[in-house]
Amino acid sequence: KRPPRPNREFIRTRTNAAHDPQIRVMQWNILAQALGEGKDSFVRCPMEALVWSERKYLILEEILTYRPDIVCLQEVDHYYDTFQPVMSSLGYQSSFCPKPCSPCLDVCGNNGPDGCALFFSRERFRLLHVNHLRLSAMALKTNQVAVVATLQCQVTGRVFCVAVTHLKARSGWETFRGAQGANLLQQLKAILSAQQDEDVPLFVCGDFNAEPGEEVYRRFMNSPLGLDSAYRTLSAAEPSYTTWKIRPSGESCTTLDYVWFSRHGFSVDGVLSMPSEEQIGPDRLPSYHYPSDHLSLVCDFSFIQEPHRLM
Ligand code: NDP
Ligand code: CA
Repeated sequence: KRPPRPNREFIRTRTNAAHDPQIRVMQWNILAQALGEGKDSFVRCPMEALVWSERKYLILEEILTYRPDIVCLQEVDHYYDTFQPVMSSLGYQSSFCPKPCSPCLDVCGNNGPDGCALFFSRERFRLLHVNHLRLSAMALKTNQVAVVATLQCQVTGRVFCVAVTHLKARSGWETFRGAQGANLLQQLKAILSAQQDEDVPLFVCGDFNAEPGEEVYRRFMNSPLGLDSAYRTLSAAEPSYTTWKIRPSGESCTTLDYVWFSRHGFSVDGVLSMPSEEQIGPDRLPSYHYPSDHLSLVCDFSFIQEPHRLM
C-alpha cells in the first residue's frame, strides 16, 4: 500500500479582489522515465517505484490535484504516447520541444528524447503563436531548448507569453548556464518586440539547475524584462529546496526550479508550499508517494490592472 501523498498548503498574500480570473501556473521537472530507470541511480528509491505504468498516474494525479491553467514540464519523454493525448482529453492544448541530443537516447529501451512541454487550458486561452528555441551559449548551439507560447485570455482578451526551459545540469557549468540564460532572455526580448504591444507580460518556468546564488539567477532577477521570482516575492526567500534526492555521490537538497513573472504585468496571489522533510520521508525523492526527484511549483497570479487602458 502506498503512503499518503504529501499534503501541501497554499501560502496566500492577498485574496483576489480584482474581477480578473486568476492564472494558476505549474512548473515541474517530472523526471524522464529513461533517466530515472537508466541514469540517475537514486540509491534509496526502489526500481518498483519507478515503473512507468504506475508512475504516470502519480504525475497526472499531481497535475489534477491543482488543476493549473498552465503546466510547464521538463524531462518529458512520454509526450506523444501519454501526456499529449491524456492532457488533451483533460482540456489542455500543448506543444513539445525535444532536446536535440537527449541523454534518454543512451538508455536501452528508451521512449525517445526528453524535452520541454507546455500545456494550457483550451477553454481559458487561445494560442496566438508558438516558438521552439534552441539555446546558445557563447555563440554555440547547445543541447538545451525552450518552448515559448503567446496566449490570449478568452475572457479578458489580455495577451501574455509563457516560456518553459531546462538549463544544462551539473556543477562546473555555472558560466555555461549564465550564457544560456542570457541567450534565453535575448530570444524572449526578440519575441516580445515582434508583438504589436511592447509591454506583453511574461512567465518563464524552468528547471534552471542553478541555486539562487548563481550567475543565471542574478541575470534573470536584474534583466531589463523586469522579471521576479514568484516564490521569492511571496515569502521573501526562495524555498529551501525544490529537489531532494540521494545518489551514490550523496544527498542533494537544493533549489533549482523557478517561476519568473513580469513585475509590470502580474501580481502573485499565492504559492503552493513545499512539503516538509518529514512528508518527503527519509529516502527522499522520488519515492512510492512522489514520482519525481523535483517538486512541483504552483503559483496563482492575477493581471495588474492597467489604468491607462481603462480610460
Ligand atoms: P545535462 O548535463 O543537462 O543533464 C541531462 C540530464 O541528466 C538532466 O535531465 C539532469 O537532470 C540529469 N542529471 C543531472 N545530474 C545527474 C547525475 N549526477 N546523474 C544522472 N543524471 C543527472 O545533459 P545534456 O543535455 O547537456 O546532455 C549531455 C548528456 O547527453 C551526456 O551525458 C550524454 O550521456 C548524452 N548525450 C547523448 C547523445 C545522443 O545522441 N544520445 C549525444 C551526446 C550526449 P536534472 O536537470 O534534474 O539535474
Ligand atoms: Ca533529472
